[in-house]
Amino acid sequence: MNALLENWPSSAHKAPTTEISVVIPLYNEFEVITILHQRLTAVLAALEMSYELVLVDDGSRDGTPRAVSQLAAADPAVTAVFLSRNFGKEAALTAGLEHALGDAVIVMDADLQDPPELIPDMIRAWQEGADVVCMRRRSRAGESWLKRYSASRFYRLLNAISDVEIPPDTGDFRLLSRRAVEALRLLNERNRYMKGLFAWIGMPTVVIEYDRKPRAAGISKWDYLALFNLAFQGVTSFSVAPLRMAMGVGLLTALFGVLYTLWIVIKALVLGDPVQGFPSIISMMTILGGVQLLSIGLLGEYVGKTYYEAKQRPVYLVHDVVRRGKASSAMARSLSTNPVAKKGKVVCKV
Ligand code: UDP
Ligand code: MG
Repeated sequence: MNALLENWPSSAHKAPTTEISVVIPLYNEFEVITILHQRLTAVLAALEMSYELVLVDDGSRDGTPRAVSQLAAADPAVTAVFLSRNFGKEAALTAGLEHALGDAVIVMDADLQDPPELIPDMIRAWQEGADVVCMRRRSRAGESWLKRYSASRFYRLLNAISDVEIPPDTGDFRLLSRRAVEALRLLNERNRYMKGLFAWIGMPTVVIEYDRKPRAAGISKWDYLALFNLAFQGVTSFSVAPLRMAMGVGLLTALFGVLYTLWIVIKALVLGDPVQGFPSIISMMTILGGVQLLSIGLLGEYVGKTYYEAKQRPVYLVHDVVRRGKASSAMARSLSTNPVAKKGKVVCKV
């Protein structure tokens, strides 16, 4: 544990005054932003702890950036981080975690599906010693049965084949201690399946159950295709089981091929049945071709992932940060191992 702690980047950047940070990724969330700010402020002010709201604008195309700027100008507790374009929720979350200064960092969605009123319970669990407080959905109001069913199947599948235990029905809504945040920052992969990364770091974890609310306003940014993609990313980022499965299918097909050939030979020699079989050749060829292409595609997925990792591009680019009402210089921040970036120098203006 000590060796691990030594490896963690120093927390020298941490202002001693911030106890709680709430990190929220925002993509086209103009409708909810005011009510979100009101409800969060009501909960956090009652805690009598110092806090900041880290609002990450993930390249929104509606009025979100303007609303975030106005909030940051009016409320010194708001830290606004503007990404240079839409990098996706996982990258926006990473940006938020990197800019958060709190001793405990709470991650939540903007749409109030994760009720801010649960924050005091999360903080209590953290004060009692938990490094990670996961929020587990007991119910998911406002979501179709298909979404609920596919989500629950997906978590079961992922846990069955992946290398880490990902608690079922937990989203990104959670609290992380400073130690947990620093540990997460060590994971510098480009392919960021956050739920998997959260689980990978381990650490003393407490699970609290809650009822998931429908969206307060606006629409979900995820259609079924995007969700399928996320699930596929989850599986291929945390397991090579699909590759092994492809091997298994190949083995079974080959075995079937050998037995079938034997059967044809016996039929020809013993029963004197001449070889016919144009239809069987065609069906075998299409089945085999399909299995082969599928396996190559799967292999390609893993090779492609390696390709993206090898490029070592930053996970996101920030074009502006407003903290305590003041804008800081535009800086490319990334999880990259680039030593220049680590020292906090300006590597790239956006
Ligand atoms: N989000 C984001 N970037 C994106 C898509 C979504 O930052 O490219 C944010 C979004 O603003 C919200 C959170 O991720 O705060 C969850 O999105 P959403 O509510 O649409 O997902 P769902 O709850 O339907 O899974
Ligand atoms: Mg949502």
